[in-house]
Amino acid sequence: MIALALWLWLWLWARISMDYTDEHYRPRCPRCEQAMVVVIGDYGRYAAIRDWHEGDIQRRPLRPADPAVLTGIKGWMAGTASVHGERVLAVGLTYLFGEGDCPHCGATFEVAAQREHSRPAEPDPWAVQVT
Ligand SMILES: [Zn+2]
Repeated sequence: MIALALWLWLWLWARISMDYTDEHYRPRCPRCEQAMVVVIGDYGRYAAIRDWHEGDIQRRPLRPADPAVLTGIKGWMAGTASVHGERVLAVGLTYLFGEGDCPHCGATFEVAAQREHSRPAEPDPWAVQVT
């Protein structure tokens, strides 16, 4: 059990940027499967539709988890960040472990769960499109 918790911690810690000043995820809605962007950082904390010309539109604010009720590895991560004075990270983690609403259909989703199904925030300009 301890090995699993340690592995989860290392895996999660490595997948976040460690500061939450500019996190962008590109998950799909668990209900309508439309793409959206989830932002946690200095630009705000929201789910939105990323429009190439207009930026992030139809923004819906994320709801942070209450750190007092986080348990297991989530509680440990938030608590460790807070104890070590990493306030921005601690606050960012409450949003990562919180909820959001799909800007397309309004479905509520768990940010961390959808983050695991996300793809890079920006398209890879060097990617080759195969049709
Ligand atoms: Zn949706």
